[in-house]
Amino acid sequence: MQDAISICVIGSGYVGLVAAVCFAEIGHHVICVDNDEQKVAMLNKGEVPIFEDNLPELLKKHRGRNVHFTTELRAAVEQSAAIFIAVGTPQGDSGAADLSYVEAVVSEIARAISDYKVIVEKSTVPVYTNEWIRRILNRHGVQPGSFDVVSNPEFLREGSAVSDFLFPDRIVIGTSTGRAADLMRRIYAPLTDGAYYRQEDALKGPHNRSAAAKLLVTTAQSAEIIKHASNAFLALKISFINAVANLAESVNADVEDIAAGMGMDSRIGSKFLRAGVGYGGSCFPKDVAAFRWVAQQQGLDFGLLDEVQRINNAQRDVFFNKIRSALWTLRGKRIAVLGLAFKGNTDDIRESPALDILRRLLDAGACIAAYDPAAIEKAEALLPPSAQLRYVEDAYEAAQDADALLILTDWKEFATLDLARLNRALRYPIVIDGRNLYRPETMSSHGFNYISIGRQPVWNDGARPISQRPI
Ligand code: NAD
Repeated sequence: MQDAISICVIGSGYVGLVAAVCFAEIGHHVICVDNDEQKVAMLNKGEVPIFEDNLPELLKKHRGRNVHFTTELRAAVEQSAAIFIAVGTPQGDSGAADLSYVEAVVSEIARAISDYKVIVEKSTVPVYTNEWIRRILNRHGVQPGSFDVVSNPEFLREGSAVSDFLFPDRIVIGTSTGRAADLMRRIYAPLTDGAYYRQEDALKGPHNRSAAAKLLVTTAQSAEIIKHASNAFLALKISFINAVANLAESVNADVEDIAAGMGMDSRIGSKFLRAGVGYGGSCFPKDVAAFRWVAQQQGLDFGLLDEVQRINNAQRDVFFNKIRSALWTLRGKRIAVLGLAFKGNTDDIRESPALDILRRLLDAGACIAAYDPAAIEKAEALLPPSAQLRYVEDAYEAAQDADALLILTDWKEFATLDLARLNRALRYPIVIDGRNLYRPETMSSHGFNYISIGRQPVWNDGARPISQRPI
């Protein structure tokens, strides 16, 4: 392919690794750096440290050819025209993003710059980080003309990260210099001129999408805010529908019908209007908090974001109360848990609502059999198996002799269970669904007592939960 550019990606996590193999896929030469020696050794053996569709195939295609893995940051920077920083920016105590990983990387980059480089913020960072990176480089004696700093936020979603990267809704580039903008345009050209999509061996996109990707060039500050504002807005949509769900439930309405009706309005759209146990993951909780902090620093009251967080936290209480009102006491109860990851199609358990619910159940003395298609290994490291907690091989094993089954993650396979088999496995046919994966009528016809979010519960045995009984 035309115009191969030498790229260094620092960080080989969900964003860095995906970016590295995708840049290789569109024809660039990539070195991916991580200071986690074990991870780099795995990658060099062709092992994929995260669960992500299409990643193993692309890694196999490009490893040792267009993409290399190393712990040697200096050499990687020296050989590259563009350096993408994709390290973590976790939430600090004040709610602000902890930028210490970014600063550590920038200091190392400073020692390696000998000719013009474009340093790209790929990590999600608060506004003015671009400016701080520039200052740190200057403090380390790097000459102003020998680098530019660009903000290029990443919008991929775990679970469809490779496809999102190669078929983005938009690519945002925040810079005030033509030279840096030009390099960034060349890097993304195979996506923005559509050349990649015309390749025979290109990955198949969503609905075989072939239109060129849109590119938006803004100032660095605007680009930084686009990312925070986008995530905060998506989180807001989730909290909004969860608040509506609780109202729907108390007036005998159905939140799924309400969301469908709202989503048909093209001004609103149906995405992220899914009621459930609330959002989690490594992005929304910390990005909402960080954006709130950014506003506070400017003396602005963005209280709406507090409410988004409050509703999200309360939603876990709402769900836990459903368990209690269905089962009464929890000590010694056997509960099947389906789902540990923060959402379906990923092994990521960071800030997972499922783990929060699981911890509460353990604290209440319940005995858990938990299953997740990809996240068990990560969950085990955090919550080791014990007399109270078993990890099992499939949904039916989890359900065996359980007093109730909980659905906590929206994995596709949890939406297509063999309901007759599930019913036979359970001691009591009680399903409490935190993701609304089933229609109440379907569950009713299979003989379940079925409790979900924002919809009327189905009680086949006539025993409605105490809290729902008219007084
Ligand atoms: P991650 O924790 O999966 O990966 C970060 C990687 O950086 C790790 O492999 C770590 O070892 C490495 N690292 C840390 N310090 C380093 C150093 N000094 N030198 C080299 N490597 C170093 O994180 P992630 O989920 O990929 O997120 C990275 C950034 O991208 C965050 O700012 C996040 O908010 C943002 N983001 C994440 C997603 C997502 O879905 N995960 C989506 C968009 C944006």
